[in-house]
Amino acid sequence: QSQELSQVRIDYQAALYALVEDGTKMVCTGRMHTDRVCRFESLCYSTEAEEFVFFHSNSSFMLPSLGSRRFQPALLDLSSVDDHNTQYFNFVELPAAALKFMPKPVFVPDVALIMNRFNPDNLMHVFHDDLLPIFYTMQQFPDLDLDSRLFFMEGWGEGSHFDLYKLMSNKQPLLKEQLKTLGRLLCFTKSYVGLTKITTWYQYGFVQPQGPKANILVSGNEIRHFAKFALGKLNISSDQSTSEDYIVLFSRTINRLIVNEAELLLALAQEFQMKTITVSLEDHTFPDLVRLISNASMLVSMHGAQLVLSLFLPKGATVVELFPYGVNPDHYTPYKTLATLPGMELQYVAWQNKEVANTITYPERPWEQGGIMHLNPNEQENIIKSKEVPRHLCCRNPEWLYRIYQDTKVDVSSLIQVIRGVVKTKPGSRKQKWANGLYPGKVRESRCQASSSEASTTKLSVSWQIPWNLKYLKVRDVKYEVWIQEQGENTYMPYMLSYQNHTFSENIKPSTTYLVWIRCIFNKTLLGPFADVLVCKT
Ligand code: UDP
Repeated sequence: QSQELSQVRIDYQAALYALVEDGTKMVCTGRMHTDRVCRFESLCYSTEAEEFVFFHSNSSFMLPSLGSRRFQPALLDLSSVDDHNTQYFNFVELPAAALKFMPKPVFVPDVALIMNRFNPDNLMHVFHDDLLPIFYTMQQFPDLDLDSRLFFMEGWGEGSHFDLYKLMSNKQPLLKEQLKTLGRLLCFTKSYVGLTKITTWYQYGFVQPQGPKANILVSGNEIRHFAKFALGKLNISSDQSTSEDYIVLFSRTINRLIVNEAELLLALAQEFQMKTITVSLEDHTFPDLVRLISNASMLVSMHGAQLVLSLFLPKGATVVELFPYGVNPDHYTPYKTLATLPGMELQYVAWQNKEVANTITYPERPWEQGGIMHLNPNEQENIIKSKEVPRHLCCRNPEWLYRIYQDTKVDVSSLIQVIRGVVKTKPGSRKQKWANGLYPGKVRESRCQASSSEASTTKLSVSWQIPWNLKYLKVRDVKYEVWIQEQGENTYMPYMLSYQNHTFSENIKPSTTYLVWIRCIFNKTLLGPFADVLVCKT
């Protein structure tokens, strides 16, 4: 194992002197512990105490300077999962003079990204909680380049997908457990602590039932940019030109099975006149899976973590997600949300088994695989009789686990029917490309003029110039929205106009002040900003 840190030789005496003289320095971004990432110089970690240490000297600084609010509840979240109380980061403080009495520090010369993985054995969590946030945290801070090193502090072993984490930088990531072998007191020359949450799109249901995050800030463009990076690291060239169209059935082999896979494969091949292949995490290497998915026209799979790999599908492809009996697709949408992010340009289809005769339950399995024998007979009976799992919190709801770990005989004709509801033509043939999605700027030089004579003929003429960026763009449809509000009233009259001037005469009163708001709209949906309000007196 390559745990040796010092590819860079450092002058130990000078480094120690600098640490004692300068102590630790910290500046963070973010206003709350849930949106904070901190940059440190000389942050240390005691492997015996399992605590980070901030050494105070005359040169130290700590921003934000929170006082004891640093513990309410924490300085920051160490994973990308919002405000999870097992993922908090903090440090203890000491005067730098205390170093005299402490173990000799071991300096970490690499720029470090210190964080927690949330659930490294589950592929959805690996991509959504860790890999995407790591990638974009590194994009945010230029000294987190490919020569920086990841430190995983959650305390897990490597996990099933460690190879994926290794793609993120050229240095072997280090686990909390391995830090002990490096020394008793580690000092990170330069480090970043925490992960950006800006790329996450799903909340797992710790405080309210699971669902898309309330304020999604990522689009398909950034997901695909990350996918391109990963493809490059896996040495997969994405040339779709040569290959013939095909459908991928991503099967699970341990649980949540499709029991009539052969029949399903045949039906898909026949209906769409395409080659159909089956893949699984057990039977394919990760690069093979990604290569196959990145050229597929359609991905069909049971609900489950493996579906996160749809982020590698080419634009125009279709994701078909299958749900077992009693599991409402609208309540579990991590993959639907991903597929339908603007700019992902994937089609999404959910199918649910509605036939109780086509489900295979496992009441005798351990509880975490959906067994219910540990419950009292009354509770067991209620679960078995129930037709749909009610909304619930993560993570141990027995009815949810019972239903989600069922196997399913897929009713092929009902499935084809729902796919056909969405995929009218040949799968993979990209629908008409989206408008390029650029927004208008403000309209310019807006003016108004009142022509008031008698009350019945009071008019208000308003004119403006096109947004500055329009002259560089080809836009199919340009409209202007004008709101006219009588000063002091809280309602307004809206108008949708095609030209850069208009004379309003309905409901315009003499000797009145009107506020006029104007914005440009491209292609019906791309709403620009309002220009500064115009104040018009009749
Ligand atoms: N898994 C798998 N084959 C299976 C069942 C699960 O490869 O037959 C993987 C799955 O993709 C995920 C991990 O094992 O990465 C944990 O699966 P689990 O059922 O706990 O989670 P879910 O898929 O429901 O998110």
